[in-house]
Amino acid sequence: MSKILDGKALSAIVKDEVKAEVAEIVARGGRVPCLCVIIVGENPASQVYVRNKVKAAEYTGMESRLVALPEGVSEDELLAQIRALNEDASVDGILVQLPLPKHIDEEKVIDAISPAKDVDGFHPSNVAGLWLGKDCILPCTPAGVMRLLDSTGVDLCGKTAVVVGRSNIVGKPVAKLLLDRNATIVIAHSRTADLSAVCRQADVLVAAVGRAGLITGDMVKPGAIVIDVGINRLPDGRLCGDVDFASCSEVAGWITPVPGGVGPMTIALLMKNTLRCYQKRIS
Ligand code: NDP
Repeated sequence: MSKILDGKALSAIVKDEVKAEVAEIVARGGRVPCLCVIIVGENPASQVYVRNKVKAAEYTGMESRLVALPEGVSEDELLAQIRALNEDASVDGILVQLPLPKHIDEEKVIDAISPAKDVDGFHPSNVAGLWLGKDCILPCTPAGVMRLLDSTGVDLCGKTAVVVGRSNIVGKPVAKLLLDRNATIVIAHSRTADLSAVCRQADVLVAAVGRAGLITGDMVKPGAIVIDVGINRLPDGRLCGDVDFASCSEVAGWITPVPGGVGPMTIALLMKNTLRCYQKRIS
């Protein structure tokens, strides 16, 4: 039976680190860091995510602002709102909750956020920074995955890491961060031939696909670290990951649950990123 990588417990530690730093800033008479979250429309899942982000910011002692725009808001109005927040000296982090309604070009919106306030790490200049190994804001979910991996105490150097999924927000950046730790990387995707055989090579297996239970125990190398990024809703309403927990936990050395694994880490790293943007802006 594998050890559980408890993202809920670890995220509480990360948020407490941020809380302590914010308290120190306030004790020194500094300005309170501020995260501004923009939500467009009424997508119920987005509303839950946004509520959790605002709650986490409040927990750490940071200021949080919520800008809720109607589903029908025009792209120009949203871009104008972002530009105003870019100029607002009291705002340190800007996050636009995705997905956006179809009439709004997400790429344009991401590009409009000042890279210095881009707490999601999605702006092209932060993405370039990641790939060029420069000081930049890292995307929250991949950074959270790395923090979970670090908590195992396993040295990743020379390990084989398989990342299933190649999205710009999860798969590709996770692969780059693992590469930075000198792991040997395989990126698998929907066209990968014999996914099972590829996954069985993995000392570290990261699933970021969006297919419930895609990774089964027979695809896992005994003792491997299995990180499940996937969030899928089953027909009965329950949440589950891309990893079949029951069969994989029989084989893996470490495994993240869903819920309670990567999800809470994403929010905790968002708090870290907001604090980081604040510190970079005031320095
Ligand atoms: P995308 O849909 O952007 O990417 C999914 C990737 O999975 C693609 O690269 C796709 O391949 C690959 N894929 C699809 N089907 C298969 C298959 N059968 N075998 C192998 N690879 C496959 O998803 P995201 O990266 O945005 O998200 C992935 C999952 O992570 C989702 O469940 C999402 O909800 C969750 N998520 C969780 C977060 C958290 O905080 N825990 C944060 C962000 C996302 P191809 O490129 O060939 O199409």
